[in-house]
Amino acid sequence: MSLSILPAVPTQDLTITDDDHQFFLTLWIAASSAPCPHCGQISSRFHSTYTRQVRDLPWSDAAVSVELVVSKLWCDNPDCPQSIFCMRLTPWVPAYGRRSTRLTEWIADWAWTTSAEEVAATAARHGVTLSASTVLRILRAQPDPTFPPPRIVGIDDWALAKGHRYATVVVDLERHCVIDILPDRTAETVAVWLREHPSIETVSRDRAVGYANAAHEGAPQAEQVADRWHLLKNLEESIERLFRRVSPFAKEPSPGGDAESPPPDLPPEEEQPALDTPPLTPRQTRYAAVHQLADAGLKVSQIARELGCDRKTVRQDLIGPPPEAHPPRGPHPRLLDPFEPLLQRLWENGLLRPLINNDTRGLILIG
Ligand SMILES: [Zn+2]
Repeated sequence: MSLSILPAVPTQDLTITDDDHQFFLTLWIAASSAPCPHCGQISSRFHSTYTRQVRDLPWSDAAVSVELVVSKLWCDNPDCPQSIFCMRLTPWVPAYGRRSTRLTEWIADWAWTTSAEEVAATAARHGVTLSASTVLRILRAQPDPTFPPPRIVGIDDWALAKGHRYATVVVDLERHCVIDILPDRTAETVAVWLREHPSIETVSRDRAVGYANAAHEGAPQAEQVADRWHLLKNLEESIERLFRRVSPFAKEPSPGGDAESPPPDLPPEEEQPALDTPPLTPRQTRYAAVHQLADAGLKVSQIARELGCDRKTVRQDLIGPPPEAHPPRGPHPRLLDPFEPLLQRLWENGLLRPLINNDTRGLILIG
């Protein structure tokens, strides 16, 4: 019977038995000579045999266990300290290994794409029993994959313990994957990392001064850009501030009284706050919402999820005093404010007229 269990290894005998979705193969390795693993000298003087159980790739959902019967040989090199050696089966089975190389590679290929728990669970359905810890051990033993030097990188904070300890994450923006985690977020650490990677041409970062200094010192050749997430976040906050500032005036009824009255089947609108009432700050709004949800019986974690904020923030709002409103801000002083009475008099006496052309808009003094 010919069966390719270990390719290119001459087999002398093969027996297959099966029991409850498991196949047991006994394989005699028939090589008459082999090199000594210590000195490399070829030996053909037979000493004895030894057996080893090795797990191999499953056959569909049935586990495969191979019992290898392998020769032990004498080493005839008088200078070799090893007088007896076991025939090696590498690369098909590693020395002292209990798993075939191709089974290890099968698990590792899988583990690169999903979690160790998932690999262990799915492998069990194929008859391969192993723990998630073993999957991680296999993964860590794999050689590091090699990639081209990074050209465009993004750097940002990485919370090791949110609110307490932060690291820095470095992302290769061309391959869209994390390439390093730095132990802290100081400018010195980031600058050292950037200096070690002279291939970098563009650094995408937030607008904090620390990362700007780090990029300036560590990669002066690189162009610094603000990343899209922070740009959109800044834009969102600016728009939110703008609408919060203008919203009380936007809801003011028009002087002509031509505002549309609500349909009769709708409840009347709530009374709008007076114009001199300052609008609620985001903190006041959140404080009120937190207490409203807590009064409704929601837990801290539920409130945090509902409002999209941190649980620590919710707890602080629940035990802390209500936040104070910002004092209303007056209009910014203008450059012409001191001259306003004079300009008003000139205008009323007809000595000023508007000047509007392609380049200029203003007032012109007549005479
Ligand atoms: Zn030897």
